Amino acid sequence: MFERADLLGVSVCKVTAAEVIDKILEYLKTDEGHIIVTADASAVVIAMDDPEFTEIIREADIVTPDGAGILLASKILGLGITEKVSGVDLARSLCRLSGEKGFSIYFLGAAPGVAEEARQKLLEQYPDMKVVGVHHGYFKPEEEASIVEEVKASGADILLVAMGIPAQEKLIKRNLDKLGVKAAIGVGGTFDVFSGRIERAPVWMQRHGMEWLHRLCKNPKKISKVAMLPKFMMKVLRKRLLGG
Ligand code: UDP
Repeated sequence: MFERADLLGVSVCKVTAAEVIDKILEYLKTDEGHIIVTADASAVVIAMDDPEFTEIIREADIVTPDGAGILLASKILGLGITEKVSGVDLARSLCRLSGEKGFSIYFLGAAPGVAEEARQKLLEQYPDMKVVGVHHGYFKPEEEASIVEEVKASGADILLVAMGIPAQEKLIKRNLDKLGVKAAIGVGGTFDVFSGRIERAPVWMQRHGMEWLHRLCKNPKKISKVAMLPKFMMKVLRKRLLGG
């Protein structure tokens, strides 16, 4: 278990990407399913009004610090979180390692066609990659059970779910025992990025914690998510100034 820091009621692990990958490789040798949450500022804000999501985070095996907002909050509150561990970066590392280490991955989520496009694009870079199944994330609640069975039948070791916070984490929690995977990770808009449908921000913007601005310019519909950032920062500053 990694050491955790309490960030406005959400306990985030003080981890590096390399440590998370090593831990996931250890999970692959076990017989149980493990839940990994990639928590950005919006996850913390959503958790404030969603006790079910808060509980999922509390019980998750790993909660990674995802995003510049979390790092800035850590600096302000002195939490000791030093590295961003995003869903996109974790997913890419796992895809790259799947061929070399011989484990398999299932992609669930994003609009019809996107996960398959993501797989094709990644295969150009990692020809040995083992993605054993894909399914889009726009299905009816009554279809969930058969998709879960499909994941299990694929024999995948790792499930990446890209359906947005908190739906992806809730789906994982509801079905963990039935999925047959050793690790399930909520990865947000990752397949949109891998498929090339959404460009990632230039490296200099990522370095300066401005990925959110790039996303907003590319997709103004994201305003409701970006609007959570000021709310998050206000809560962080309040905590810094008033404690409690
Ligand atoms: N999505 C999905 N099913 C839904 C709603 C959304 O598969 O019912 C997908 C959507 O197409 C996108 C991803 O979930 O690929 C959400 O990406 P976002 O960056 O908004 O994720 P978050 O920041 O919430 O983790």
